[in-house]
Amino acid sequence: MAGAAAEAAVLGELRRIVGDEHAVEPAPEHLRDATETRGIEGRADAVVFPGSAGEVAAVVAWCYEQNVAITPRGGATGFAGGAVPTEGGVVLALERLDRVRSFEPLLWRAEVEAGVRTEHVHRLARESGLLFPPDPGAAEQSQIGGNIATNAGGPHAFKYGVTGRWVTGLEAVVPPGELISVGGPIRKDVAGYDLRSLLIGSEGTLGIVTAAWLRFVPAPEAAFPVVGLYPDVRAGCAALERVVGSGLVPAALEYLDGGALAAAGPSYPGGTPAGAAFMVIAEADGTAEEAGRIRDELLDVLGQDAIAVQAPEPVELWRWREGVAFAVISLRGGKSGEDVVVPLDRLAEAVEETVEIGRRHGLEACSWGHAGDGNVHANFVVDPRDEAELDRARGGAEELFAMAIRLGGSISGEHGIGWTKRGWLEHQWGPRAVELHRELKRAFDPKGLLNLGKKV
Ligand SMILES: Cc1cc2nc3c(=O)[nH]c(=O)nc-3n(C[C@H](O)[C@H](O)[C@H](O)COP(=O)(O)OP(=O)(O)OC[C@H]3O[C@@H](n4cnc5c(N)ncnc54)[C@H](O)[C@@H]3O)c2cc1C
Repeated sequence: MAGAAAEAAVLGELRRIVGDEHAVEPAPEHLRDATETRGIEGRADAVVFPGSAGEVAAVVAWCYEQNVAITPRGGATGFAGGAVPTEGGVVLALERLDRVRSFEPLLWRAEVEAGVRTEHVHRLARESGLLFPPDPGAAEQSQIGGNIATNAGGPHAFKYGVTGRWVTGLEAVVPPGELISVGGPIRKDVAGYDLRSLLIGSEGTLGIVTAAWLRFVPAPEAAFPVVGLYPDVRAGCAALERVVGSGLVPAALEYLDGGALAAAGPSYPGGTPAGAAFMVIAEADGTAEEAGRIRDELLDVLGQDAIAVQAPEPVELWRWREGVAFAVISLRGGKSGEDVVVPLDRLAEAVEETVEIGRRHGLEACSWGHAGDGNVHANFVVDPRDEAELDRARGGAEELFAMAIRLGGSISGEHGIGWTKRGWLEHQWGPRAVELHRELKRAFDPKGLLNLGKKV
């Protein structure tokens, strides 16, 4: 069987498992994710929307028996092409697994299915005076399963850590189609190998997350951001190191370089003073008294050598910060971004070299990101219709990865390896460590059908 006949046969079998309306022919939106402005698009025979963990297991079992590749798909906001079905087969979309199975605010915990949107978890916590700290930028669209699969971060990961820190247990389907539970509504567990951590950040290559036990903390009473503006990268990075060295623990510690500031500055609520070419954002949180004290100390520490320091209103500031990527996109219609990591004391070099790499490839480049974590969102400004330009951006990305490794960092701090960085793991890890990755992949997925071509 080939082509349309094969597609019809796959659809027929999947419909038998999930019902006619929940297995469909792929539409263009099922073949892309947030990398679509970089021209990345896949192909698939069918898209299936299981309604329960049992149906996910049955779909995986059928695909495994028939040697059909499976691409798990959450909210499709990923920046590494991880949810794009680059090798054909079946797209397994988790959006119908959207139940909150339990929520116990007095015990600071919940069990939610993988397709629950990130913002829904935030709201659930907020309405009970709690906080679910992971705050990746596309929370209205991304799913908790996708956040777990990428171990997503965000601005407040500096104090609170990335998604995995807030997951105490997972339910997942692993090949050849079995449902497993690791961890649970418990806060400590050292009984076995840490399979929970192995599944977190595995980008759908080891198993399909169907539900998670999440933990919360009481929400801080107050959060006060502080902004410092500096004449250049070196002065801004020195300020960042002063904050860390001062012993203060801000909830977030972010930066924007001159290019990002030039793009997003016009809509900045505080107004950027003349000569500002680097911005630091820090946020103090805690009780109102504690947050107020830390804010005052941050104003002091950030104020040295600054052109200006400000204490903006939090909601306005963070709304603006979320829009920085869109301000950069609006320059030429697109951007090609990577999320490399470097040690904090190499941040200034990474920020300057990003611009230099762009220049070498004839591209305007800028960066912003989670400075405290050394997480640089390095971006080339592109016209997405210009193939030659996209090609040059791909060349620039390779240099960004090489730079991160040379500076003692990582090729990805948040977005994962996915499709766009395939092959690069070998450059960051030694041969034995890479082989261990492959052996783990074989142990979970001996036929190599789960998110084929991604990560390893
Ligand atoms: C505007 C914008 C801002 C962003 N800001 C941030 C940020 O601050 N921090 C950050 O970390 N990321 C950020 N991202 C990237 C993205 O939102 C995250 O990577 C997010 O975690 C992806 O979740 P998703 O549900 O959209 O997953 P998808 O994009 O659908 O999938 C991502 C990967 O996870 C796999 N996957 C999805 N669901 C499952 C599952 N249930 N089981 C197993 N594998 C699965 C997919 O196969 C794929 O490999 C941003 C994206 C956008 C568009």
